Amino acid sequence: MHNDADTQSAPVDEQCSRARLNSLKEFHSGGRGFWQNVPDADWNDWHWQLKHRITTLEQLQRLMPTLTPEEFAGTQLANHKLALAITPYFFNLIDPADEHCPIRRQVIPRVEETHTASWEMSDPCGEDSHSPVPGLVHRYPDRVLFLVTDRCAAYCRYCTRSRLVSNAAGYDFHPEFDKQIAYIEQHPEVRDVLLSGGDPLLFSDDKLEFLLTRLRAIPHVEFLRIGSRIPIFLPQRITPALCAMLKKFHPLFLSIHTNHPRELTTEVRTALGRLAEAGIPLGNQSVLLKQVNDDATVMQALVQKLLMCRVKPYYLYQCDLITGSAHLRASVRTGLELMEKLRGHTTGYGVPTYVIDAPGGGGKVPVSPEYILSRNRDRVVLRNYEGKVFEYIEGSADSPAYKISENFEVPSHERRESCREKF
Ligand code: SF4
Repeated sequence: MHNDADTQSAPVDEQCSRARLNSLKEFHSGGRGFWQNVPDADWNDWHWQLKHRITTLEQLQRLMPTLTPEEFAGTQLANHKLALAITPYFFNLIDPADEHCPIRRQVIPRVEETHTASWEMSDPCGEDSHSPVPGLVHRYPDRVLFLVTDRCAAYCRYCTRSRLVSNAAGYDFHPEFDKQIAYIEQHPEVRDVLLSGGDPLLFSDDKLEFLLTRLRAIPHVEFLRIGSRIPIFLPQRITPALCAMLKKFHPLFLSIHTNHPRELTTEVRTALGRLAEAGIPLGNQSVLLKQVNDDATVMQALVQKLLMCRVKPYYLYQCDLITGSAHLRASVRTGLELMEKLRGHTTGYGVPTYVIDAPGGGGKVPVSPEYILSRNRDRVVLRNYEGKVFEYIEGSADSPAYKISENFEVPSHERRESCREKF
């Protein structure tokens, strides 16, 4: 609760940062922008949105005459690396007057994508080397990644799977569902299947239902997950019919992907609410990106707004060493500082796990600010989120340091009996 007395006593910096946080947390509609004359029925139809995506330099220039030389050159080259595609709905979230707009940086190509270093990779998570059959990644003991398509509603310029998605780089991805499913059937240790791509929610309801039905028929598959950025790029896709179909396959979780609080619009909130009403637990995966979300107030607004949309912030990823992403990668030091400013300062449910996907295929490694100052057999010295130091004693139960307390009263036989009756 905010009152005038609070405002008067808070230092000016604190008031400014609280005002900025509150402003970032407001929900707004994406609006219609250049598409004012499009009938509602078309605008709200996900097929219409896909058909009218911005995919060429000419379209982009027409809609955004403020393209910088770096963006112009990057867009000219995009179709050789990772295609350009932006839905009209998501395009409206870009501020054309702001060269550093955090939405713009995520989807508009830049010439820096052609700059590469020897430590960058086209497959930084080593997925191809952990694929027993094309389109299936078996990296961890009890779960698999099931890649179903190479298409997305829009393309993120830092995409870890840019070698594959959009097919601009000629990967020629053709998953064979029968082979992928047969592998899962033959591996009883696989209890968890994550459908990803590309974006599985680009499939028609029928096609997705067919796949989920086949997976649900495998007795050892306990748990299904879908990874999708569609609720953010194309919230129109989250129809009541889709949700009614998905709820037949519980337990089914959905991981969305959003990086900046401005992506959480009223349209997205409605879409996420529909998924939550269908009983689908929702988590969010963000990528730490330079000049997008490498700022404590932005990150705090993002996680708090996600909770308001019934989404648990799940992972914050250090940006993978994908070729041509240096201009978007924030440092690990920044990531640790952000985590320090979340833990204890906001709801624990709002604190994601910060991870680095170990380059070359080592899997996710959690990284965290150091809270244990020292540790030995008998005690752990900790610091809390305010920097205060505490000691947790770990003497073993048979240590001579333990004696029966002089004030401890051994209960009588009658009292013990009456306690037993109660339970
Ligand atoms: S939605 Fe996911 S798979 Fe598609 S481009 Fe973005 S990060 Fe890559």
